[in-house]
Amino acid sequence: MTLTIEKFEPVLREKTTVQRMYINGKWVTSVSNKTREILNPANNEVIAVVTEGVEEEANAAVKAAKDAFYKNGWKTVYARIRADLLLKVASKLAERKEEFAMLETLNNGKVYEDSLADVEDAIHQFQYYAGLATKPHGQTYEVPDEIRAMVVREPIGVVAQIVPWNYPLVMAAQKMSAALAAGCTVVIKPASQTPLTLIRLFEILDEVGFPEGVVNLVLGSGSVIGDRLVNHPDVDKISFTGGTSTGKQIMKDAADTIKKVGLELGGKSPNIVFADADFETAVDYALLAIFAGQGQVCSAGSRLLLEKSIYDKFVPKLVARAKKIKIGPGWQDGTEMGPLISQAHMKSVLDYVKIGVEEGAELLCGGNRITDGELAKGNFVEPTIFTNTKPDMRIVQEEIFGPVLVIQVFETEEEALELANGTDFGLAAAVFTNDGAKAQRVIRGLQAGITWINAYHPTFNEAPWSGYKQSGIGADLGTYGFEEYLLTKQVNIALHVQPSGWYKG
Ligand code: NAD
Repeated sequence: MTLTIEKFEPVLREKTTVQRMYINGKWVTSVSNKTREILNPANNEVIAVVTEGVEEEANAAVKAAKDAFYKNGWKTVYARIRADLLLKVASKLAERKEEFAMLETLNNGKVYEDSLADVEDAIHQFQYYAGLATKPHGQTYEVPDEIRAMVVREPIGVVAQIVPWNYPLVMAAQKMSAALAAGCTVVIKPASQTPLTLIRLFEILDEVGFPEGVVNLVLGSGSVIGDRLVNHPDVDKISFTGGTSTGKQIMKDAADTIKKVGLELGGKSPNIVFADADFETAVDYALLAIFAGQGQVCSAGSRLLLEKSIYDKFVPKLVARAKKIKIGPGWQDGTEMGPLISQAHMKSVLDYVKIGVEEGAELLCGGNRITDGELAKGNFVEPTIFTNTKPDMRIVQEEIFGPVLVIQVFETEEEALELANGTDFGLAAAVFTNDGAKAQRVIRGLQAGITWINAYHPTFNEAPWSGYKQSGIGADLGTYGFEEYLLTKQVNIALHVQPSGWYKG
């Protein structure tokens, strides 16, 4: 279809009514009586107003989820019923695919095709976990002592899920579908900037008929409502995706109640290009690695590690193509890169550009906000590339989370690995080479949970998404992501009912 803003605007019915939370099967407004304006990052216009939740609503949502799990029997609902509900969500979401994708683009800024791919992923996640709902089989063991032993799998209980703004729908869908399939009840909190697609997903959850309290949506800031969820004694598990510093705080806070914690955190991922790589492919993926999603992708290839002998050929081509990237609103045909999420985040990215220059790195292109024409209203930043970097520079070590690439140069395989592993993060990494054995050696040496050979970014719902080092704990997606919501319980059955004989008196 040809994209125009007129096609997108009708999905914005939130403009006229305050959007609410969903707690214990009902739509509710916060007792705070406060609201939050939601902005379109492409022009900073208000596109919706949502109620601003506080502690009271976090508490109410946890109570509802606790009652639904422990008192009202969601824990023991036949898995096929849970699977059916998840499949219904998938098919209703599929019917409204374009509407959700348009709303995501208006709220997050991402290019429409990206939003559409996200909604398709979300649909598939509900289908995939519906399939797994009936699969957590236990095991039996033949053991001595006239005992028959077995291990059964049980859902963890009340799960609080906290998601970031860069994949608002898809992160929520992957966490919720896995937890619900496992038999947990859920309280979910979107990032305060991007609640709109998740609110609409709850319309679907409501329609398909999840029992009261099984799914709950709270809206508000991380420091108030997120913090309450993390500290709440009745939350059995926290599943968090977001920044590493927030993850560290959550892990400390969760210690008081020994909550299970799943953390999917930040990255500073290396994309290693050897001289023997296919040149055009490597240049192309170097661009996609960092500029897809405006660089606001946890797994972005934000460090390009280039073998010295191809530097002079590679870099001019890379810079020339970066300058040609078509920047615009996500709803416009042909847009290849959209705006950053907010003015505050744009400032943080531009501050990193200044830091890079002050540290002595060489700015090859970009580094500026776009201030021409219509784009001046939005949070648009040029594709930016730095070279002449040193490993200890902040722009090399810290996650910028924007369209900023830093180049590092190496001469040997060993040096490439040392540079690649030389940050606190360990989320993703790629290697480009036509030498199969070398590719395998490098992959083996990389400290990263998601890796590619001769590609960057493609991943799939069936595989675990997890970070090494400070990029996280545990996994989302795949069977591993499902296991995160299950406990194991030993059941030991005596084959003869008789006293132990231990006490002689
Ligand atoms: P963030 O950490 O600022 O916020 C994430 C979520 O946590 C939001 O919902 C926020 O409201 C909430 N939050 C903030 N403080 C909290 C607290 N003290 N207690 C509880 N909740 C709190 O991250 P962000 O800016 O929304 O997202 C960007 C970050 O997310 C980047 O670092 C990115 O790499 C990371 N990320 C990681 C993955 C992954 O799978 N590893 C995926 C997407 C994003």
